Amino acid sequence: MKITRFETFAVPPRWLMCRIETDDGLVGWGEPVVEGRADTVRTAVHELADQFLIGADPLRVEDHWQLMTKGSFYRGGPVLSSAVAGLDQALWDIAGQAYDAPVHQLLGGPVRERVRAYCWVGGDEPAELRDQIAEQAAAGFTAVKMNGAGRTNRLPTVAELDGIAARASVAREVLGPEGDFAVDFHGRFTVAGAVRAAAALEPYGPMFVEEPVLPEYTHRIGRVVESTTTPVATGERLYSRTEVLPALRSGVAVVQPDLSHAGGISESRRIASLAETFDALVAPHCPLGPIALAASLQLAFCTPNFLIQEQSIGIHYNNGSELLDYVADPEVFRFHAGHFARPTLPGLGVRIDEKAVRAADGSAASWHNPVWRHGDGSFAEW
Ligand SMILES: [Mg+2]
Repeated sequence: MKITRFETFAVPPRWLMCRIETDDGLVGWGEPVVEGRADTVRTAVHELADQFLIGADPLRVEDHWQLMTKGSFYRGGPVLSSAVAGLDQALWDIAGQAYDAPVHQLLGGPVRERVRAYCWVGGDEPAELRDQIAEQAAAGFTAVKMNGAGRTNRLPTVAELDGIAARASVAREVLGPEGDFAVDFHGRFTVAGAVRAAAALEPYGPMFVEEPVLPEYTHRIGRVVESTTTPVATGERLYSRTEVLPALRSGVAVVQPDLSHAGGISESRRIASLAETFDALVAPHCPLGPIALAASLQLAFCTPNFLIQEQSIGIHYNNGSELLDYVADPEVFRFHAGHFARPTLPGLGVRIDEKAVRAADGSAASWHNPVWRHGDGSFAEW
């Protein structure tokens, strides 16, 4: 079997999909994207596919991963790692179809029968957090995630700390002791600020606090870990085992590789195994589209130290189009009391609605995250 054709599609709200076709007629889908840099990644994906994949046997997934990652001398970073990630997903999709098995079966088989998911509530500056959490709890979710603070000082004021505590208090009150909420700080604090923010959360028992500091300060995240009883999570902006290792050594409780950023299923699987040696859990980052979610679920079903899955159905970023718009069989992403059922279709386990993808290609306005500024006019982390 040989790879004969390669295409990419830029679709709303902010996603890039790739399609690999073989001379046997098999088609594999991947989602290589960096949010806000879809065109940049698109160029990288085409360069990699042209150089390493066209004419090659798609079933040599690991060999392709090695060449795509290392074969051009310069390596790593969000753009190249995300390009490799989407191509890796598509190759696994083809492999699953060739062997007539879901990818998680090829990776050792299922270790669980359902996968717990959380949904986002609140957006960046939520006005109606209580109602949103209650709505998700009523829909069957047992966990939610929210931003811990909007635009904030890098050393939070007492008022800002009170705001963090107030959000957490609402979440705990609505969810009760059985429910879980996670709090994302998007690296908006300094290490010292994060220590105070984590302390403000402690009385409410969040499942984890996410990115208390920026990934470039991972060498200092241990200070936050040691200061609090709240489990610390990070990893959506770390792209390989070697980048995740310092976070694990610092004692983070949860790592969050993104299957569309951290080298795909191949490298995220290895990150999960590495985390297992530190007794850390894995909660794949996934505010993206259906292929990224399908790839995440394949990992979740075969990974013993999996914790919970992020997903973007109904997320505040998905303006104008939704994850299910591109899926021929939305049933695979139906929630059962806040859980996904185990996918049984071969490959990534989702049938992409190719017509919808082709129709949407090119219709996305460029998506960029907001640029925030502090009160004095200086740049603020979003
Ligand atoms: Mg996050």
